[in-house]
Parts: sequence; C-alpha cells; structure tokens
Amino acid sequence: MIDNKHTDRLLRTCAWCSREISEDEDIFGFGAKAIQAADLSDKEGQFVSLNLSLQDKTVFALVPTGSSAADIEGFDLVFITCSEDCAQSLKDALDLERDVFDEG
Ligand SMILES: [Zn+2]
Repeated sequence: MIDNKHTDRLLRTCAWCSREISEDEDIFGFGAKAIQAADLSDKEGQFVSLNLSLQDKTVFALVPTGSSAADIEGFDLVFITCSEDCAQSLKDALDLERDVFDEG
C-alpha cells in the first residue's frame, strides 16, 4: 500500500496561501502546463513542488494520472487553491515565471 496521507493533506491545502481547506469548503482547482519541459510520467498521482523564484515561494501541484477526469486532460499539473482570489494570484505568478523561463 502507498501511504497517501501526505497527498490527502495537500489535496486540501491551498497552493497559494497554504491555508488548510476544511471539508465543507469548496476547492478551486485549475490545470496548467508545466513551466519547464519535464518528464512527469513517473510522478502521476503525486504532488510536485515548484519554485517560483520571482515570488520567493514554493507551491505544490498535483500531476494528474492518465485516467483523470476529462476536464484536466491536456494539463501537466493541477493546482489546488482555497478561493478564486488565490487561484488568480497563482495564475498570475505562474504567467510571470513563464515569461522568465521563455527568455532563457
Ligand atoms: Zn488560498
């Protein structure tokens, strides 16, 4: 058996503000493409950490499995946030980081 305790906790933790999302609250998740070309195939169903150098912040993202729901197909990563504000802030931060990486 795989120990899923850590994953379960991250599934209810906002990737942006690190707030724990209680069971009666909605989760705002969204999919994204990986910032850097990376082989994530051995990470399916697991969380990976991403360093946002511009924000001096590390965020966690779930790597969807091949059998995940259709609405996240085509995405390399799924981010979990506690609110639309956090989702938007995280998207903005990822866009900024992407610009940096594109220049490299
Ligand atoms: Zn949040």
